[in-house]
Amino acid sequence: MAPSAISSSIDEQDSFHSTGIFPLNEQLNNTHLGGNMTNGHINPLPSSSNETLDLLCIGFGPASLAIAIALHDTQSILSKSPKVLFLEKQPQFAWHAGMQLPGAKMQISFLKDLATPRDPRSKFTFINYLFSQGRLNQFINLSTFLPSRVEYEDYLRWCASHFEREGKVGYGMEVCSVKIGSTSPSTGKVTGWEVTARDNTGDFVTRTARHVVVAVGGRPVVPTIMQGLKHVAHSSQFANAISKIEEQARESKRPLRFAVVGSGQSAAEIFNDLWERFPDSKVRLIIKGASLRPSDDSPFVNEIFDPDRVDGIYAQDPDQRALALALDRGTNYGVVRLTLLEHLYEKLYMQRLRSSSPMDWRANILNNRQVLSATQSKDSGVLLKLGEVLEKDGAEEELEVDYVFTATGYKRNAHEEILSDIKDLLPGREKEKFGIKRDYSVVFDHGKVDEAAGVWLQGCNEGTHGLSDTLLSILAIRGGELVQSIFGSDAASSTSASTAASSPA
Ligand SMILES: Cc1cc2nc3c(=O)[nH]c(=O)nc-3n(C[C@H](O)[C@H](O)[C@H](O)COP(=O)(O)OP(=O)(O)OC[C@H]3O[C@@H](n4cnc5c(N)ncnc54)[C@H](O)[C@@H]3O)c2cc1C
Repeated sequence: MAPSAISSSIDEQDSFHSTGIFPLNEQLNNTHLGGNMTNGHINPLPSSSNETLDLLCIGFGPASLAIAIALHDTQSILSKSPKVLFLEKQPQFAWHAGMQLPGAKMQISFLKDLATPRDPRSKFTFINYLFSQGRLNQFINLSTFLPSRVEYEDYLRWCASHFEREGKVGYGMEVCSVKIGSTSPSTGKVTGWEVTARDNTGDFVTRTARHVVVAVGGRPVVPTIMQGLKHVAHSSQFANAISKIEEQARESKRPLRFAVVGSGQSAAEIFNDLWERFPDSKVRLIIKGASLRPSDDSPFVNEIFDPDRVDGIYAQDPDQRALALALDRGTNYGVVRLTLLEHLYEKLYMQRLRSSSPMDWRANILNNRQVLSATQSKDSGVLLKLGEVLEKDGAEEELEVDYVFTATGYKRNAHEEILSDIKDLLPGREKEKFGIKRDYSVVFDHGKVDEAAGVWLQGCNEGTHGLSDTLLSILAIRGGELVQSIFGSDAASSTSASTAASSPA
């Protein structure tokens, strides 16, 4: 289940080079997972290229998968079966493969899977997945709502395999642009879109569709001062990189020094993983705050993520909404699950038994620190200059390490680039921001786009739709809302169209 290792050596590839982001496509092997494969190769475009699709979804992560499932569950009451295609840049289904760490758990109840909150009778529920895998009883014996991340990815892959078999998914297809595809001769309004993707051989492929959903997730952010340096990588590449580092460490037999930058769940998981994985290494976690803080998933707070909260959040005055979002950010950003905090604290404490000097400790948290500069040191090491956050003219210190992992978050603006060719259709003079309606459709200038066509955005609407927008919490319901918005009200009434079955085949 772990992501496969990269094939060439870390130095050959300058593996942690530039922005520190590996091309993920190249690292994942082409293991057949039940997708559109011909002679061992994934068929990049499963259906004929000159038909106009009813829906094309860009990205095939959980958000698009939830739409696929909702559409499947409502299809029996739609007047005709829509032509749908999902284009995904990875060579196969994978969910945050770079953070599939041993022992990592989900941060959401399995009951908030991609179907249950919309229709518990859907065959795409997590429970039906467990049943079909012959693990339902054993899972019950675990007495947990929080499956491992590895198992949840397998559940998602199991759901995805259904649509792969139906020929609705094109892997290895990175969508680069959406342009106007067709206009009505009588009204001049846009009636369809032309979507262009680069396949994994570098060739460009175009498809036309009436409705387009952009669900491309976040883009990893590496702090500017660390971009371009070797041996600096974003947390999203951790699992892929670490096996290569392990290999090198075994050969060189030299104890390694690591720095992890960030104070959220990913930073804490990587800090813990490095500490356990390399028994002779030194690991430093650099955090801006005074301490690591726990995430709050207590029941009242958890209601923030309920699907029925979105209406109220969207209707709020924008200033009030921004204030409320800022207040609630601590539930999701820069926080760590309490169990991991307690585990780390105990391990840090045990070091004190051996020595009272932090210099002797294998692992330590450097708090109230920020990275002021980063330069390449010899042997591709990284020299970090750290400053005190609280004291402006405080002392600076140097920390030389072999590798840096930055768990510094994601930017959710990739849609602006993908949709840049249709910006002239936006209203007003400022054509930089894509305004979004409650149903996630892009607001176009009056009279420019036909009612039978449109573009929808997923996962980049936290500012208007609330904190749950980037998460899994509301995907089952939101998938249904998208189907309703795109395919009309007949789909709306059908939240119970599915029938129980033991597998999604
Ligand atoms: C390590 C980690 C753990 C998490 N755990 C949880 C959790 O437990 N609970 C929770 O609620 N949330 C969690 N999240 C939040 C996460 O955002 C959601 O779990 C979920 O991945 C959102 O789904 P998505 O489809 O919007 O985005 P993504 O999962 O990012 O999927 C987007 C897809 O689009 C593809 N893509 C991107 N650009 C293009 C392009 N140009 N052309 C074609 N394809 C493209 C990507 O390859 C990707 O497959 C976690 C996030 C991380 C990083």
